[in-house]
Amino acid sequence: MTTATAADYLAAADALDLRTGAYIGGRFVAAQSGRRFDDVSPRDGRVIAHIAEGADDDIDAAVASARAAFDSGEWSRRSPKDRRLTLLRLAALLSDHREELALLESLDMGKPVADALSVDLRVTIETFEFFGEAINKVYDEVAPTPSGTLATITREPVGVVGAVVPWNFPLMMAAWKVAPALAAGNSVVLKPAEQSPLSALRLAELATEAGLPDGVLNVVPGFGPTAGAALGLHNEVDALAFTGSGEVGRCFLRYSADSNMKQVTLECGGKSPQIVFADAPELSTIVDAVCDGIFYNQGEVCSAGSRLLVHTSRKDELLDALVAAAAQRVPGDPLDPSTQTGALVEAAHLERVLGYVDAGIAEGARLVSGGRRVREETGGFYIEPTIFDDVSSSMRIAQEEIFGPVLAVFTFQDDAEAVALANDTVFGLAAAVWSNSLSTALTTAREIRAGTVWVNNYEGGDITVPFGGYRQSGFGRDKSLHALDKYTQLKTTWIAYQ
Ligand code: NAD
Repeated sequence: MTTATAADYLAAADALDLRTGAYIGGRFVAAQSGRRFDDVSPRDGRVIAHIAEGADDDIDAAVASARAAFDSGEWSRRSPKDRRLTLLRLAALLSDHREELALLESLDMGKPVADALSVDLRVTIETFEFFGEAINKVYDEVAPTPSGTLATITREPVGVVGAVVPWNFPLMMAAWKVAPALAAGNSVVLKPAEQSPLSALRLAELATEAGLPDGVLNVVPGFGPTAGAALGLHNEVDALAFTGSGEVGRCFLRYSADSNMKQVTLECGGKSPQIVFADAPELSTIVDAVCDGIFYNQGEVCSAGSRLLVHTSRKDELLDALVAAAAQRVPGDPLDPSTQTGALVEAAHLERVLGYVDAGIAEGARLVSGGRRVREETGGFYIEPTIFDDVSSSMRIAQEEIFGPVLAVFTFQDDAEAVALANDTVFGLAAAVWSNSLSTALTTAREIRAGTVWVNNYEGGDITVPFGGYRQSGFGRDKSLHALDKYTQLKTTWIAYQ
């Protein structure tokens, strides 16, 4: 917990020395075109920095730097024991700078600074610690081959990894890719989202301070269709790890097909159900969790529990309690440590979310809470936590990822209907089951097509368990030792002897 006050954070924000160049070959450089783009804080709509606008030439330079670093072996062939030490030093530096980094996240994308500190920074640090600690403890394999032969199956780094990440957890999403990729010995070119480049640039600088050789981690800020596409299409990028929307995820599959068939892994969106059965735990146990499931981080969470499926017998009491709880989550200044709900990331996203509120009303859903823009006088992009009742599966608010604080409530009569409703989506990222019956909980968890199912909690977990999607939520897993699969390839060495 921080002891800093809103005034402390405001003063610290004024004193920040923001990094605005691309980070290539161990130093900050301007974009080769000389172009810069405005970094707008959603807190008040003000431009807080002018960031180097990377494009093809800058991606070329970053990939060349990453390739040269990889081929030199300075990192890729460094002993796992020594890579471990560097990553642990980086984790310690991130910890030393966690207040500053949390402030960057809050200013850049509007989340409450207290959440940035207690979740984003905590998880980012744990991620570097976990993969640093893991890398000299994972063993390779010897195959059960006939006598006179010895066959080893060894993991090798893939080479140059491109990572393209979104703005909702800027540093954490970057860490989930960068930490295992570096641990495995790869070089990385990271493109942060144009809405939130600040923390990634600082991360790269701290990595150099921790002892990472120049060129092993490069960060090129810029827009998706230019810098992002250039990375996706680059013939010298061996693997591309993406987190973001399904629409852009499809682009990366095409980029791979149109270039060097690089390995692509996708972490895309969701429309996750929270199922409350008749025998769910008592109301006080579930209301906060259901609310956090959809309203945390302004609903800008890929695994947000945006569909509440509730048994008819529990509907009225739960909806009343949710409406009361939502009203408490009044958006406030992200730099105030007591704020629970911050700003949406940008004006266009606010318009998009408000458009879904209009669509819900037009399609006949019943707006029972929120739905309005607030704090407009600040110049920032704030919306009230919003709840729609009487939603049916054919509505847009039931099917499309809103990526904002909008909950769609459905009712069901029996278990089969609940499972059918839960699976009535193209996505499969996460789900929650609330039931006191072990049998109902486990049967339902098995029947739901999603990468994570929570039972009697929402968003539980830590770095030791994998995270990723089924169906159009993508493929490949972040977190846990399984993440190493994305950044390594298996080599068979078959040895004959007499
Ligand atoms: P987005 O897809 O618009 O952008 C993500 C990244 O892709 C950004 O860096 C962007 O610059 C880049 N990009 C955009 N267009 C591109 C193009 N044509 N070519 C190459 N790169 C391009 O997503 P967003 O709005 O930043 O983030 C929200 C989305 O991310 C939501 O759909 C959310 O569900 C998803 N997300 C998923 C996970 C997960 O783990 N499954 C986690 C967080 C966010």
